[in-house]
Amino acid sequence: MTKQTIQETLKPIVALAKRRGFIYPGSEIYGGFANTYSFGPYGAELKKNIKDLWWRNFVRERRDMVGLDGPILLHPKAWKASGHLDGFNDAMIDCKACKSRFRCDHLIEDELRQSADGLTLQEMTHLVHSNKVKCPKCGAQDFTEARNFNLMFSTHMSKTGSEGDLAYLRPETAQAIFLDFKNIIDTMRVRVPFGVGQIGKAFRNEITPGNFVFRVIEFEQMEIEYFIRESAWEQTFEDWLSAMHRWCDLIGLKKAHVHEKEHPKEQLSHYSKRTVDLVYDFPFGTSELYGLAYRTDFDLKRHAEFSASNLEYTDPETREKFIPHVIEPTFGVERTVLALLCDAYEEEKLPNGEMRTVLHFKPSIAPVKVAVFPLMKKEPLAEKAEGIFRMLQKHWACEYDESGAIGKRYRRQDELGTPFCLTIDFETLENGTVTLRDRDSMQQERISIHQIIPIVTHKLGSL
Ligand code: ATP
Repeated sequence: MTKQTIQETLKPIVALAKRRGFIYPGSEIYGGFANTYSFGPYGAELKKNIKDLWWRNFVRERRDMVGLDGPILLHPKAWKASGHLDGFNDAMIDCKACKSRFRCDHLIEDELRQSADGLTLQEMTHLVHSNKVKCPKCGAQDFTEARNFNLMFSTHMSKTGSEGDLAYLRPETAQAIFLDFKNIIDTMRVRVPFGVGQIGKAFRNEITPGNFVFRVIEFEQMEIEYFIRESAWEQTFEDWLSAMHRWCDLIGLKKAHVHEKEHPKEQLSHYSKRTVDLVYDFPFGTSELYGLAYRTDFDLKRHAEFSASNLEYTDPETREKFIPHVIEPTFGVERTVLALLCDAYEEEKLPNGEMRTVLHFKPSIAPVKVAVFPLMKKEPLAEKAEGIFRMLQKHWACEYDESGAIGKRYRRQDELGTPFCLTIDFETLENGTVTLRDRDSMQQERISIHQIIPIVTHKLGSL
């Protein structure tokens, strides 16, 4: 798909995601709850495939990695130590006329077409006021001063409801890994360099969320904290950048749509000495998909200081003690889903002039691998088809569909991105063969029932 056609595809993708049970708006029966979404049955399968593949690729198949499932609620002091309580802010600004709230940097970028990176609150306020920026919602030119807004969601831990009882929903999964660093080095036979991978929910009270599931207030991260000696950081950074590109290939994102964006020094987060984003050509513009940061020894040092714990690692051979440095590759699950939907979506004109909508998912991440159709609902075709379905279900996520014309059933599976459809017809009863139809080429071949599992296994593995 060219960039031009990608630009035009978000609306139909949102519609397909709803229509076909991938993604529903959150709390819809109550009129919706802004920027929350449910992943429907196929979205849940897609997400699970992404997370399973990530875990297998980055945790199970590597000898230098272990996994963790840490808590969402951490000791409130952890957020003081990490710098999130004081520094995890966005600048916001309100329209006095219609009371709409905006992220000030986005307002400046969208309305004045200039970057707000590195500007102070005063500088941003001055730019908005002196350029008489119009409110994108109501057109008034009457904004408040820009002020900081902390992105962490807070919650109360006890019935008193006092400030002292505040706890925070984690805005990133990373901190749980730092808090368990000591447990991991004490209980696992890990040796620097090693990494800890984690998949879990994170929450951010984003001021201007949007663009479907690109920016939501509750999302999942797949994060790695990779512990190294300081001297190894540059090489390790490059190695992880390559590993992240390989991951994009593995899930089937087209290389031409994924780019690197280096953060200028003056815009780095408080903990980072180098950050490179992998950005993707989303329909609404090229934006961050994943991030790679060199967090130095900032987090472990701060937690050691604030918790008064010894977070040093001892080299088993030299007995040298040191606090490791950290390289952090981070991957958002929702942004992965969105990029995959955008990359896979096609409205294809067929040689007979008909149109079909198809999701060209890589089979390994497709929510359904094989759909089984009896040509007709009636016996003995249905019984035969059900037997084949039950056999295949033990191997893959499969779907059984017996209603409507075969052509319609193919179209339905194309929209879900199902790579293979099997049709059971009268010939099946005579000679034990079925039709195997390929989603992308739409070619059909007749294969024997005994060949289904080896042939589909082979095709799934080689695609
Ligand atoms: P942005 O600049 O877009 O706000 P960020 O730089 O704050 O993103 P990180 O803190 O690096 O993002 O978060 C790591 C990853 O988590 C991102 O690369 C992205 O995939 C995902 N992510 C971050 N914020 C959100 C969000 N609000 N909704 C969905 N995914 C998110």
